[in-house]
Amino acid sequence: MAASDGGGEGQGRQFDVIVVGAGIMGSCAAYAASCRGARVLLLEQFDLLHHRGSSHGESRTIRATYPQPHYLPMVRLSRRLWDDAQADAGYRVLTPTPHLDLGPRDDPALLASIRNGGAAEVGVDAGERERGDHQEPPSWARVFRVPDGWTAAASELGGVMKATKAVAMFQALAIKKGAVVRDKTEVVDVAKPGEGSILVRTASGEEFQGTKCIVTVGAWTRKLIKSVTGIELPVQPVHTLICYWKVKPGHEQELTPEAGFPTFASYGDPYIYGTPSMEFPGLIKIALHSGPPCDPDSRDWSTGVADLAEPVGRWIDAVMPGHVDTAGGPVIRQCCMYSMTPDEDFVIDFLGGEFGKDVVVGAGFSGHGFKMGPAVGRILAEMAMDGEATTAAEAGVDLHPLRIGRREVLEPVALGATHSVILDEEVTLCERSSFKGLADLSRTCCYKALPHNLLYGYAVTLTRIPLDV
Ligand SMILES: Cc1cc2nc3c(=O)[nH]c(=O)nc-3n(C[C@H](O)[C@H](O)[C@H](O)COP(=O)(O)OP(=O)(O)OC[C@H]3O[C@@H](n4cnc5c(N)ncnc54)[C@H](O)[C@@H]3O)c2cc1C
Repeated sequence: MAASDGGGEGQGRQFDVIVVGAGIMGSCAAYAASCRGARVLLLEQFDLLHHRGSSHGESRTIRATYPQPHYLPMVRLSRRLWDDAQADAGYRVLTPTPHLDLGPRDDPALLASIRNGGAAEVGVDAGERERGDHQEPPSWARVFRVPDGWTAAASELGGVMKATKAVAMFQALAIKKGAVVRDKTEVVDVAKPGEGSILVRTASGEEFQGTKCIVTVGAWTRKLIKSVTGIELPVQPVHTLICYWKVKPGHEQELTPEAGFPTFASYGDPYIYGTPSMEFPGLIKIALHSGPPCDPDSRDWSTGVADLAEPVGRWIDAVMPGHVDTAGGPVIRQCCMYSMTPDEDFVIDFLGGEFGKDVVVGAGFSGHGFKMGPAVGRILAEMAMDGEATTAAEAGVDLHPLRIGRREVLEPVALGATHSVILDEEVTLCERSSFKGLADLSRTCCYKALPHNLLYGYAVTLTRIPLDV
């Protein structure tokens, strides 16, 4: 029943773990579960390695500099697992590079990222160099001309992953370990007919039985989880654009990984990121980390060309002058999707409710998940198979901020309307005291929730009440 043979062999077979969605997260989860000896089925609605989700393309970056401290142990674990997988495959998908963070000196996210990632300031402006304020900067630092009031810091844990090649690698490794991979198979329902049994139904009417299920459906998370549970997870698909720009003649070598050129992220507004010139010789990827909301099933592929490319051109002219030609706009543009959560933290948790610990969800990777794919895959597989993510715990990864029921799920909901939300224990306690515990969501009000049923999660009506009530 592998995608390669396309047949119906194994239909109705019992699997230990059924993984829904074959982007980087599902492919890594299938690999991790297969390595543990599980009988794994990986289902994908489109062709394998399609370009309609979030994991396709030429490159993704890895970096250790995060404003939220909880990602650093996960990045480190993931970096180790990237190496393990490459050793298993016998080829490489990750090119190590330095990483540069730059932006306004008073940007709290930048400062926290530098601090958490152990990045070292580099003297990138001419004045600093002349004053000898910093150690002699690397030669690539001369490419950047940072505006007054900005700072820049370099860190060693950086690199570029070949995105589509990496997804293909994990799928091939999973198949090698015995996983069954089926593409063009859209999952329309996940049910729990009995204890220790999960039934997965597809659009063509096929049914697969599993002991556990891992749901990694990217931008389709909100739709699938809502149709399965009635619960609305605030995972918002966003349309974004990868842009490749022409390097000015004479500078082609200077911007390559071989010359030591880093991946980079420029904080503030606009938030810009880039990778060294590698996948298309003479071109460099520099793009805007943003985009408009979209529906993954009815995308306008031409959306936002001006809005998403023009700010990048202006940033290049200001911060990398003389190295990249912006006059004709980007030479190559590729569409992609982010799956944004309100706080831009991942969702990694058991689905709960009637599914208890039998269904695990990995979603909302908010435009920064790829680097963490191998770690997320291992975490999801261990949660499904063991009920806990031991490898992550040993690596010091705190999954607490990534729970489905964290209070941020309440932020995007409209006041006065009735919503289905999954509440964790902490918020449930708040609910018992009229949600006064949620007052910190707003300085001027707190929220009163009226529970309607306790069947699964809660249906709540949110109303504003004065703080002194
Ligand atoms: C332009 C861009 C640049 C990025 N840069 C970086 C970066 O530099 N570093 C980084 O770490 N991250 C980066 N990211 C983020 C990263 O790529 C994503 O977080 C990651 O790819 C998300 O993977 P996923 O598996 O959750 O989603 P997806 O790749 O979208 O996979 C979900 C899969 O589920 C399938 N599916 C959906 N519904 C169903 C169903 N009902 N039945 C069967 N299959 C289904 C979909 O077809 C899809 O294949 C970037 C993202 C984009 C778009």
